[in-house]
Amino acid sequence: MIYFDNAATTPLHPEVKAAMTAAMEIFGNPTSVHSFGREARVFIEDQRSLVAGLLHVSPAEIFFTSGGTESLQTVLHGALRDPDIRRVITTPMEHHAVMHNLKHLSPVFQKPVHHVATGKGGVVDLSHLEELLKEPGRSLVVLMHANNETGILLPLTEVAALCTRYGSLFLTDTVQTMGKLNLDLSTGISFAAASAHKFHGPKGAGFLFVNGDCRIEPLILGGGQERNMRSGTENIIGIAGVAKALEVALRDLPETMPHIQSLRDSMLKGITERFPDAVPVTVPDQSLYTILNVGFPAHIAGAMLLYRLDIEGVAVSGGSACTSGVNIKSHVLDAMGIDQDARQHIRFSFSRFNQPDEVSKCLEILASIPRN
Ligand code: PLP
Repeated sequence: MIYFDNAATTPLHPEVKAAMTAAMEIFGNPTSVHSFGREARVFIEDQRSLVAGLLHVSPAEIFFTSGGTESLQTVLHGALRDPDIRRVITTPMEHHAVMHNLKHLSPVFQKPVHHVATGKGGVVDLSHLEELLKEPGRSLVVLMHANNETGILLPLTEVAALCTRYGSLFLTDTVQTMGKLNLDLSTGISFAAASAHKFHGPKGAGFLFVNGDCRIEPLILGGGQERNMRSGTENIIGIAGVAKALEVALRDLPETMPHIQSLRDSMLKGITERFPDAVPVTVPDQSLYTILNVGFPAHIAGAMLLYRLDIEGVAVSGGSACTSGVNIKSHVLDAMGIDQDARQHIRFSFSRFNQPDEVSKCLEILASIPRN
């Protein structure tokens, strides 16, 4: 089997598994005052310091959560409730964890949602963003760092600077980029969301960065854990996995980044050579190096290319991972004005555990599939 669906989720790194296994011995409740509790508390705070240090922020700005969806929802809910926030500025290409929440929260809190224009490949138009930010009143800007379907990247520092200039808050979804790029979150970003399973950590564990200068009300109330931002007894094993996964990912980046990028580039080259009628959606030099989205002619494999690849032992995705399994059209490609009836879109996404021979094998399989 060849696994090219790493934007959906990644396998656990052995070092992460070992760290989580060790953390299973820590059974005290971190809230308890006795030594068992204190051991757990110290462990969690050590993991927080590790994560914060890797991202150049203060430990007080990191809150452990159940992952991307919860982190995003916490900010959306908190910021939209804030009477100081007048509107939301976003794109129709965000993950459903953002879009579905905004659809629900915008009428509840009577905060309109404005869409910033996007250009070729889905790149955000910064001058239009600035126009929108000039409107009176404070905005919440919600823009993902890399799109999970196309990989298109956002210039984080520039957007953060614009938001700061106009006194607005900036939430960025770093679920796809965390652990894959060296991020410095101390550059004016208000909030960032991350999910460990996208960088060889456990599922159901992640974190939210909240800039010390930005205050929001919590989403989950209760025992006041995570300094009142996220109640509920802490997931010690998950937290151990989050911190170890980020540490390992960033430690190994100098080797893994060029390795993955060369896999992505040779896949693109191979596809372009074999399928002159294939149309890449991903703009390689403006996108995250792990993702390649290509539109193949509609008739290949009887219009069942995704399933045919699965039968041949290649796991890929047809659109957003979180909607795979249900054959619905991609809202991202739709927003880019791409006719999804004319082509079958396949997202190949690579990880450090993929090898060049898997790319060659996949290309061979693709070439052997009937064209009608
Ligand atoms: N944001 C992006 C860009 C994603 O790709 C995903 C998951 O696919 C999420 C948010 C949601 O993350 P999780 O499912 O870990 O909560």
